[in-house]
Amino acid sequence: MSLPHADTIVTYPDGDLASTGTVVHVEPLGDGRTAVVLDRTAFHPVDPVWPDQPADVGTLTVNGVEHPVLDAVVGASDGNALYVGDAPVRTGTDGWAFVVCHLVAHATGIEPGAEATVTVEPDARGAFSAGHTACHLASLALNEALSGLWTKEAPTDGRGNPNFDQLAITESRILPDGSLDTYRIGKSLRKKGFAAAELPGRLAEVSAAANALLAGWVASGAPVSIVRTGDGLGERRTWRCELADGAVEIPCGGTHLHALTQLAGIRVELETAEAEGALELRMRTEAAPA
Ligand SMILES: [Zn+2]
Repeated sequence: MSLPHADTIVTYPDGDLASTGTVVHVEPLGDGRTAVVLDRTAFHPVDPVWPDQPADVGTLTVNGVEHPVLDAVVGASDGNALYVGDAPVRTGTDGWAFVVCHLVAHATGIEPGAEATVTVEPDARGAFSAGHTACHLASLALNEALSGLWTKEAPTDGRGNPNFDQLAITESRILPDGSLDTYRIGKSLRKKGFAAAELPGRLAEVSAAANALLAGWVASGAPVSIVRTGDGLGERRTWRCELADGAVEIPCGGTHLHALTQLAGIRVELETAEAEGALELRMRTEAAPA
């Protein structure tokens, strides 16, 4: 059986919840599950390289048989092998095809060439989209709220503030209607000019500043979109939000709301902890649907 040689066309960045496509590859994984690759899909897969947003929940229907999708992961093919969730390269690397692998339990009757319909459960998708949009806004609000703690010039975010989020983040988890981000403030960040020692004492002030910014952005109802160079899974995609003081962009492979009018509010809570000789900052973000 030939391996996928082109990226899966993905329609979830536009918010699609259903799609029709053709089966291009079927690969048993040896654990009872089978990876099914389509030429196009609305199903958001988890990317193991940066697993922030979980896979969609939903079904794959082939020849009238509905298969629950147990998981969906980014797969990569170099023409010799299909790596399902364990690609040795970053998504988007030249010379590789990046595909959405829909994992199903019983693949009987699923053959290359067959037509397949994908249906995504809308409530779970909507909650993750709200959580992911809130997560990006929270990172921008945190950067601005922490800007006074930098003593040296640092790389900046799309709003011109020192990009603490990008420099310190170790893990980001998109949750239903929220997110949990973990930052590590170690020696290298201190060397770059971040006044780590001051942070624990100013946590309340920093979260109040971040929450005030978030309240203003949500009240503005700013439009949100995904900018991209192409429709293939491996193409670069960017989250864009038209804030009143200027549009801001963040590279992102996830799903999002269409406008901040879909939210009633976003709030963050910050806490610090000692972790292996470094200071850890955790930001819990919660989005309230409108
Ligand atoms: Zn993102």
